[in-house]
Amino acid sequence: MVSQARLVEIFSSIQGESELIGHRQIFLRFLGCNLRCDYCDTPETLSSSQSLPLCRIERTPGCGDFEYRENPLSLGDVREAVARLNQVCHHSVALTGGEPLLQADSIIALLPALRDLGLRVYLETNGSLPDRLDWVLEGIDIIGMDVKLPSVAGESAENLLERHQEFLARARCKELFVKIVVGDATPDAELEAAVRMVAEVDPALPITLQPVTPRGPAVYPPSGSRLLEMQALAQRHADTVRVIPQTHHLMGLL
Ligand code: SF4
Repeated sequence: MVSQARLVEIFSSIQGESELIGHRQIFLRFLGCNLRCDYCDTPETLSSSQSLPLCRIERTPGCGDFEYRENPLSLGDVREAVARLNQVCHHSVALTGGEPLLQADSIIALLPALRDLGLRVYLETNGSLPDRLDWVLEGIDIIGMDVKLPSVAGESAENLLERHQEFLARARCKELFVKIVVGDATPDAELEAAVRMVAEVDPALPITLQPVTPRGPAVYPPSGSRLLEMQALAQRHADTVRVIPQTHHLMGLL
């Protein structure tokens, strides 16, 4: 069994996106991603473990007093770091990245320790690795899956809808919701195809449309009036469609 994990950081903060917005969570940010979204707000996760030798670990929940440990971390070190942060009440532990399912074997080994700490487990994923989901599904409580649109995420997000749908079908047995990042260049047809794909799995799955946070070349959020049009379009197919920007940056949080 795997006894190590490659991580970027471990810290306590407030969830700033999507359905769990506002909840306090312990974040385990996994290193590595199989996509290259133009708007990626965690470019450090795209490194290989060789180019990110150290993981930063917050000592006191929410204080930003980081210490550094060599990658890969032992699962014992991860457990110890999470236990230390869990001195204050947390809603759940967020497995995020990067794409955490690239390290599904490490997650399997880590899940019992997270359970022992009394934490629910939330998986934040780009929804492109449905086979890997099966490895960890039993130990996950909540899943937030991104649907990636090429108009805003770029080339690496092309032709993902089929894989996203397979992922959703497998994840449906858990508390599940979907986030779609949209930009000013997102056409109706692309958004509608994505929402229809989700609704074919289950029209009751909650969807968040997240206006892209400007980052990198030529990626801009839709105007307010355009967001209203997008929401109306999505609501033709899905029961619950909310529009929520990233909020943790507004609060000055990680
Ligand atoms: S899937 Fe997430 S971590 Fe990976 S490149 Fe896209 S935004 Fe960044």
